[in-house]
Amino acid sequence: MITDTHAHVFYDKFDVDREAMLARARESGVTRMVVVGTDATSSRQAFELAAKHPGLYPTAGIHPHDCAEKLATDRATIEELARDPRCVAIGETGLDFFRSLSPHDVQVESLRFHLELAHRVRKPVIIHCRDAHPRMAEVLAERRDVTGVMHCWSMGPDELAPYLDLGYYISFSGVVTYPKNDANRAAARAVPSDRIVVETDAPYLAPKSHRGERNEPAFLTETLAVVARERGVSNDELARLTSANATRLFSLA
Ligand SMILES: [Zn+2]
Repeated sequence: MITDTHAHVFYDKFDVDREAMLARARESGVTRMVVVGTDATSSRQAFELAAKHPGLYPTAGIHPHDCAEKLATDRATIEELARDPRCVAIGETGLDFFRSLSPHDVQVESLRFHLELAHRVRKPVIIHCRDAHPRMAEVLAERRDVTGVMHCWSMGPDELAPYLDLGYYISFSGVVTYPKNDANRAAARAVPSDRIVVETDAPYLAPKSHRGERNEPAFLTETLAVVARERGVSNDELARLTSANATRLFSLA
């Protein structure tokens, strides 16, 4: 069993072949996926899709790209979905100072809202972080009783320490397969065995052999194989380990 800890399989990019795409995932061994909401509408879609398919687990959150516009309008829905027993995590939330599609102070406010909500409902958070590294650790440290996952870790090993110290899991994506990304592969070797998980971030960030194409959960086997090779374990062993970690992180059934 392989667990994709971050996939947006409700996006309309999958409307043409969603059932076939989910079947390909199962055939590849990807039998569980965390279906991550990015605003109120998409979080509802995640719940609706998960209700129809065993092995899909929905989350509720507002992406930092959208929070300037949606923090006010979508907050109540996110709070309602967060309390639903089917909801396995709060997010994705985070800070993106690379694209900066929302003002930085609004992103920080939104991140704090999600952390507070995670604390109240006692669920993990899913964190998106781009070019926001010292600031991110400071804000997460404000709520030490909340933990979660640093999704799509794209940095090297040097930035890991504050997140590992706060109890966060580290998730590796197709980025780890890209030829130039030695630093990211070094991070994949450095994360402790009880904190590592893998994801596609589908439809984004397809691994090397599909780079530039739409990504889908079946492609997770390629990312898993690279991480396994880097850590000197078999693919099966890493699949078991990362699935066990995902079970603990998200309290999956
Ligand atoms: Zn995402």
